[in-house]
Amino acid sequence: MTETDYALRLAGVRKNYRDVAAVAGLDLTVPAGELLALVGPSGCGKSTLLRLVAGLEAPDAGTIQITGTTVAGDGVWFPPERRQVGLVFQDYALFPHLTVARNVAFGLAGVPAERRSGRVTEVLELVAMASMAGRYPHELSGGEQQRVALARALAPEPALILLDEPFSNLDRHLRAQVRADTVAILRKTGTTALLVTHDQAEALAVGDRVAVMRAGRIEQTGEPAHVFHAPTSRFVATFLGEADFLPARPRDGELVTEAGPVPAPGRPPPATEGLEVMVRPHEVTLHPPSTAPPGSSRPSSRAASCCTPSRSPPAGNCGRCSRTPHISPSGPGCTPC
Ligand code: ADP
Ligand code: MG
Repeated sequence: MTETDYALRLAGVRKNYRDVAAVAGLDLTVPAGELLALVGPSGCGKSTLLRLVAGLEAPDAGTIQITGTTVAGDGVWFPPERRQVGLVFQDYALFPHLTVARNVAFGLAGVPAERRSGRVTEVLELVAMASMAGRYPHELSGGEQQRVALARALAPEPALILLDEPFSNLDRHLRAQVRADTVAILRKTGTTALLVTHDQAEALAVGDRVAVMRAGRIEQTGEPAHVFHAPTSRFVATFLGEADFLPARPRDGELVTEAGPVPAPGRPPPATEGLEVMVRPHEVTLHPPSTAPPGSSRPSSRAASCCTPSRSPPAGNCGRCSRTPHISPSGPGCTPC
């Protein structure tokens, strides 16, 4: 991949607020066209990271590149309006005194007037809001306001769109629909997006890749099925879903636990002591002793270890959202749907 195949690249980025390291030496790369879901607990630095990328904050150290151009760091500073970045906030941040059309046109200040209204109509059609172009924000539902905020961010055709917990003000039912619509629009337009959420089910459902953030750093990045089934730390394992841990020791390509041996094919474990096997509850089947099939005292062969390489992702996609791999923190269904 060349530099311009990446929409966003951060290297060693730091941001301190007095003695709080909000972003603590963070590296992250987002290829063009990808929807990366950034997930982490409250206060781990997600919004600060987005503000740094958008140019609303300056990093104390490190570099930020957008489509191959350094926009912050190495003595360079591009203000927000020169970064080709669209923003969608949790509260949508629409101007209450402007109509839907004028809210969207606001992002097109640099576009010649004769092209501006055509682009506003085009982008409102994209989000199915053209019929409400003359309404004011208070005359819209939460989902409609969110679509206008998305239209405003997409109107200037940014290189990258940043969404900070964009669905968290919506009720549960509306949230699933608005999320599906938003993801469909981002895919249709091929827009690179960094979507921040504190909801692990949401991250697993929408992201082409998921980045798990903790205390100002990215702890693990990978495809949803990979980070869910092959977490590299206890934190990632427990943050993404229910998990239990069994102490284990390696023996001839297996990890031996108190519940029996677990296959551990591939590379050898990184250590002989302190190893643990992660078990997701829905991957365990209990049988009464009289009906137990031979060998069933072993933990399920789907049990993952924090220390062993990934197993193949689960076959098949969710029947409801059709795209999402069948991952659920709480059971066999696709919880995000
Ligand atoms: P998240 O979005 O993951 O919840 P934030 O990026 O908002 O986290 O905050 C990360 C940390 O930085 C928190 O400890 C927060 O209190 C602190 N922080 C964020 N913004 C400021 C600010 N403007 N001044 C001081 N501290 C801040
Ligand atoms: Mg935040």
